[in-house]
This record gives sequence, structure tokens and C-alpha cells, in this order.
Amino acid sequence: MGLVVSTLRQGEIATILVDSPPVNALGFAVRDGIASALAALERDEAVEVVILRCAGRTFFAGADITEFGKPMREPDLRRVIEHIEAFPKPIIAAIHGTALGGGLEIALGCHYRIAVASAQFGLPEVKLGILPGAGGTQRLPRLMGLKPALEVMVSGDFFGADRALATGVIDRIVPELDDAPLAFARSIAAVRPLPIVSRYDEKLREAKAVPSLFDDFAASVARKTRGFPAPARIIDCVKAAVTLDFAGGMKREREGLIELMASPESIAQRYFFFAEREAAKIPDIAADTPVQKITRAAVIGAGTMGGGIAMNCANAGIPVTLIETTQDALDRGLQIIRGNYEATARRGGLTAEEVETRVGLITGSLKLEDIASADIVTEAVFEEMGIKKELFAKLDAFARPDAILASNTSTLDVNEIASATAKPERVLGMHYFSPANVMKLVEVVRGGKTSKSAVASAFAISRRLKKVPVQTGVCYGFVGNRMLHRRTHESEMLLLEGAAPAEIDKAIFDFGFPMGPCAMGDLAGLDVGYRIRRGLGVVEKNIADRLVEAGRMGQKTNAGYYHYEPGSRAPLPDPAVDALIDEVARERGINRRHIPGDEILERLLYPMINEGARILEEGIALRASDVDVVWVYGYGWPVYRGGPMYWADSIGLQKIRDRLAALYDETGREHWKPAALIEQLAAEGGRFAGWKPG
Ligand code: NAD
Repeated sequence: MGLVVSTLRQGEIATILVDSPPVNALGFAVRDGIASALAALERDEAVEVVILRCAGRTFFAGADITEFGKPMREPDLRRVIEHIEAFPKPIIAAIHGTALGGGLEIALGCHYRIAVASAQFGLPEVKLGILPGAGGTQRLPRLMGLKPALEVMVSGDFFGADRALATGVIDRIVPELDDAPLAFARSIAAVRPLPIVSRYDEKLREAKAVPSLFDDFAASVARKTRGFPAPARIIDCVKAAVTLDFAGGMKREREGLIELMASPESIAQRYFFFAEREAAKIPDIAADTPVQKITRAAVIGAGTMGGGIAMNCANAGIPVTLIETTQDALDRGLQIIRGNYEATARRGGLTAEEVETRVGLITGSLKLEDIASADIVTEAVFEEMGIKKELFAKLDAFARPDAILASNTSTLDVNEIASATAKPERVLGMHYFSPANVMKLVEVVRGGKTSKSAVASAFAISRRLKKVPVQTGVCYGFVGNRMLHRRTHESEMLLLEGAAPAEIDKAIFDFGFPMGPCAMGDLAGLDVGYRIRRGLGVVEKNIADRLVEAGRMGQKTNAGYYHYEPGSRAPLPDPAVDALIDEVARERGINRRHIPGDEILERLLYPMINEGARILEEGIALRASDVDVVWVYGYGWPVYRGGPMYWADSIGLQKIRDRLAALYDETGREHWKPAALIEQLAAEGGRFAGWKPG
């Protein structure tokens, strides 16, 4: 291995070249190497300008996350940046790839920044529940202006070189980083005084002209940032950039970072960062398992899910054939897809040309034989075993012999579906979540006969569609819906026992979910579950069923668990619903009572944990953290609470066991019986985290 940091000399110009694969993270060796190189170059009188750049695929892509939570070895990043900023000769950051987090902060400490056109910039610390802690909150606003810098730091989103140039973050876009930095270096070699970002104050004056700027910004992001402590801290630091001197602002930033690092929210978010990466690893499937090359896809069924899945393909540039049974259904499906793209274009998310390109990648057809050229066929027809089996039996005749055959079923037995084909090894579930073009989760359901290559291919294509795949085994509802059903069931019980829909939804919303089960039912349509329950032969009608029979299907009929004013999605409590619940409770001989919010929350979440434990016992999920990834990306579990299994560990499994056991004693209902795994871990003082079967 060569040197991590080396210095090259070309006449009066020195280049500090950092080479620390894979992403030049700013770990100790890199920081120390830069500090030593600077010390040598400071003494060297022949050197007039210094260029800082990285080898490999990117400029510094951030801090070394493995050093998180440990005391930082000197020199820390702040000190290195101070050294750069105070350097007596100009230092130019020459950027390619991604300058993220500490990487962008180090560039902000340089006197000049140049970048190739493909470079990306960002301060994504907020995604780990922390803030940019090496001067980012103080220097970026001085360069970009207050509002743009707040947007960058509070969203954590990346921005490109064009925007960086337009907002003053970089000085120039260059065609390459071999000769152009040298020419740039010569052009600025004599400029004095050196431009030092921490001394800029022109863009900070904006706050005087618009005193409500910070409050307005906080209000504009309130919905998205609810429950996360980092955004408010970032806003506070940027405010300090305006009200305090640079040293005062840096002190505030340091205090904010230390506090956030220790916050349970950030600890959960950092846990989740690794959980997501862990989910990509399947122990018995080698990383070099051959995968199906996807050049063309087919989707069967142009309804809610099929349309979204086809959009995912088009968004990734994959041509896709969308199959329907009738021209009407096909036209409707294609029209909705176009409408979705046009709505995105109206919000500024796509150009008119991009809309046409994407729509152009989707070809409708009424002939199943048109799947013949697809490398992957995804089925999204009605949720009925008979229909799915009949279809899969036909796929053998029309699909290419090596094509992956995926079902988007939410609940059905993938082994039974696979049994309808001659080649069950190429069949699996790819369970997308609604809206499929938005939600990031894909449960990859691995059947008993699914080949390793098919699973690896499903993971690869999911990633290409910018989704997060998680492997699950075959069972009713897989990981996510199986646990959700427990919550839905208990929500019904709570209604009967005395809670109002708004009380149930409030408990879940306040916990951090985007909405509660009743509001969610109204959004999805109560008739969906009604049909499934009738299909399963369920005779007893629950409250949702009674609402459907009263013509209340949810938002689409302006009435469900709530009342909706025409054109509004705001749920309004409805006395008619209270009366209906009272009536059903009376029929069942249940005395309704006031149920406190804490009890509502426990009774909604604990059965999910219990079911999650059974899912682990049965090997349906590979690890507890996979269950967490499913819930955060599929159902909006607040990431600052890690996920259900992580949350259960944080509560303590003994406490959860005891509460489950008490409810089991009280009600005799099977779903309260503590899972064997919970019994075992509680007795051992163990945790779900890191638990492995036998
Ligand atoms: P949908 O009713 O909106 O769409 C189904 C479409 O399939 C209809 O347009 C229908 O005409 C078409 N279709 C039926 N049989 C067909 C056939 N043989 N060939 C071609 N097209 C056919 O249903 P949906 O909500 O999109 O659900 C589709 C599948 O996705 C189901 O298995 C469902 O369980 C699953 N799913 C749904 C959701 C959701 O929230 N809606 C979420 C995840 C998974």
C-alpha cells in the first residue's frame, strides 16, 4: 500500500494528494498526513500555492464513521481546517466525486474551491442526527447565504457543481483535475489578502433585512423535522453565525455537536445507518453470485402498484412493458402514470422533456406474449391465489427461460405461486409498498426453491431502482404486514373498549409515525381489507367492515373512521362513527371506558414486538435489524427511534415480557402470549440486537 498522503511538486505548485480508498474518509491517518504535509510545505519557500485533492473515485466523502463516539485523535478535523485557513500561501481544494460532511468542511476552509462538473456537495450529518461539527454551520452560510445553507444542512441533500458555482460555494468549474488546477493556481498565486471564508460577513447581513428569516425557515420545515432534535440545533448554530463572532459560533457548534452525539435520537439514527447496510448481506449468498443483467422489464397489472413499479423502472432508465387485460384498464393506468409525472414536473422535480422520456420508456400492451424480451417480469394483479397461479402457469410459455419472475403479493404464499411454474427457482416475491414509486422498501420474499442467483438479482435490481431490499421468508404478510396486522387488530379492540379513532391516531402520530392506523385505513380505503376478510371467510364484522357497509370507504367517499369535507384530506371526528362503535360494543357486551394514551400506545406497539420476535424465531427475517429496516422504510416508523426491535431493546425486554404476560393473563388472547424468544432473552437479560438463531 502506498502513502495515504503524498506531496507532488510541479515548480512552485505543490499538490497534497490523499489516497485512502474507498472514499477518502477523514480518519486519523488522513488528518495526520495532511497536517504533516502542510507543516513541511509551510517551511518550503519554493512553494507558492498548494492544491489539495484526492485520488480514486472521490474527494473526501466525509468523516470516518467508525471513529464516531470515540474521542477524536489529534489533530481533529477542526484543527486541520484552522491550519489550512491560516496557511500563509493559497490552498485550493480541487474536487471530484462527492465532497460531503467533513469533506465539504475542509474545502470551505481552503482559500479557493474548484470542481469538475460532475462533483456533488452536501452536509448530510443531519441524517445521522448530528450537525456539521467542523465549522460547516459557520462557514457555509457565509459563502452561500443563510437560507440556502439552512436548506442544505437541514435536508442533508446533495447539490451539484452548477448550484455550487451559482451560490458561491466554488470559484470555478474545471474540465479535469490534472492541468486545470495548475493553471488556476498560477492565476491566483499572487492574490493577497487571501480569501478567508470565516471572515466573510456580507451574506450574514440578510438576517438584519429579514428578521423573521429563522422563524420562517423553522416553520417551513416543521412537518418534515418533527421529532428530530438536530434541525433545530442547526438553525440555532446558523443564528449564532449572525449574532456572535466566528469563535463564538464555533463554540456553539461544538456544544451542539456534543449534545446531539449523546442524544438517543442520533444514537438510533446511527444504529439505523448500519442496520440498512447490514440488510444488504445475506449470509449464504456470496457477494459475487452472478446476477441477471436487466435491460428490459415487464410489469403485469397497471393498477395502483403495477403503475408505480413501472414508473420505478422508467425512472431508472429501464424500458418496461406494462400488461393489462382490457384497453380501459391499460389507458387508465397509463394516464395515471403520465399524471403523476406531470404533477412532479409542476412542482419543479422534472423537466417537460424528462416527463416525455420516462413516459416513452413505458409501453402498454394487452398481449402477455409481449413479456418475451423482459429480463424480469413483476406481477401486480389482484390479490387472489387463483388468478396469480393461472398467470404464473402462463409465464412459462411467454417469458424468457432465464427471466426472473417476481410477485408483488402482500400476503400470499410465494411457494404456492412458484409451484404453478415449471421453474420455481426463478420465482420470488418482490413486495413493494404503496405508493410504489415513492416508498423505498422492497421485501424480497425468498421461496423454498428460489435460487441464490434470483435473490441476488432481486437485490441488485431493487438497488438500481433506488430501493432498499430486505430478505424475508414465506409466511402470511411476510415481515411488515404480518406485524401490521397485529397493530390493526389491537386498534379495533381499543375502539371497542372505549378509545376514539382520533385518540388512537394521536398516540401513533405523537410517537412519530406520519399517521395513525385509522387515518391510514381511510387513506388506503377500508373496502380493501373488507374484501380480503370476506375472501378469507371471516364472518365476524369488525368496525372497519361495518363502516364499509354503511358506505364509508374512507377518503374516497369523504367518510370512513372520520368525516372529510369535500376536497379536504383533514380528518374530522364524526359523531356517527362514535355511535356506530358504541352499537358494536353493546352487541358484543363490551363496556366502553376511557383508555389513557400510554395504554393505547403500549397495546398498539407491544403486539408488533411480540410478532417480530416470532418472525425472528421462525427465521422469516435474518436479523432484528432487518425488521427495523422494514418498518422505517415501509411504514414510516420514526428513524430516530431506530425501529420496533431496537425500540423494544431500549425499553427492556423484561419489561415488555411482563406487560405481555399480564395482558395474556387478563384476556387469554393468544397474541399476547410472550414469544419464546422474548421469554428467553428477558430471562438472560439479552437483547434482540445481535441475536442469532441457535
Ligand atoms: P389494483 O386493483 O389497483 O390493480 C390490479 C390490476 O391488475 C388491475 O388494473 C387489473 O385490471 C389488473 N389485472 C388483473 N388480472 C390481470 C391479468 N391476468 N393480467 C393483467 N392484468 C391483470 O391492485 P393493486 O393495489 O395494484 O395490487 C396489486 C398487487 O399488489 C396485489 O397482489 C396486492 O396485494 C399487492 N400490493 C398492494 C399494495 C397496495 O397498497 N395497494 C401494496 C403492496 C402490494
